[in-house]
Amino acid sequence: MRVLSVTFIMILISIKIAWSKDIFTQFEIISPPSCINNNGVNVQFQNLSSKLGKFSAGVAKRNKKSGPIVYRLNYEKSPKALQIFIDLHECAHHQTGDLEQRHPPQNSPKHMMKESISDCIAALRMRKSGEMLMIESIFELKKAMSTLGFPLTSIKSRELNISNCFKKKISTKLYISEVLKKR
Ligand SMILES: [Zn+2]
Repeated sequence: MRVLSVTFIMILISIKIAWSKDIFTQFEIISPPSCINNNGVNVQFQNLSSKLGKFSAGVAKRNKKSGPIVYRLNYEKSPKALQIFIDLHECAHHQTGDLEQRHPPQNSPKHMMKESISDCIAALRMRKSGEMLMIESIFELKKAMSTLGFPLTSIKSRELNISNCFKKKISTKLYISEVLKKR
């Protein structure tokens, strides 16, 4: 019995060490990709970090002073694969001119459509990085979404859209011009 409880405590300690390692792991922040918006203006990237943020995230904005910008939040908290994906997704909002249109209501069909288009463009651009990195991005994305409480159906449909776009035989440039034509 004694041996058993000692083993049990040892397991608990090692789980705790593994868990705290995961929380405090710091990743190197990658350099941003090239990103030009729908008007041919260069998009800036800026790193921001908060102690409370658990995940990396990104926001595409128009900054009155410096023009189109992507804020990269807590990038040190996620591996390279997710950093690449977020950069490309946020860049895609600029490439498709989303920032020049009124922001559709959160979770409305129009909003969801813009999100899947940005995911698709990110996946198309990730073909250059290779399949392994794409798989890792999807894995990290799913991990973050499920921790944030997204329903399984939306996690699954997001994954499906990304992997379908990754396999598309269309150039990113052509895909974007098709999107812009419909706007
Ligand atoms: Zn988005």
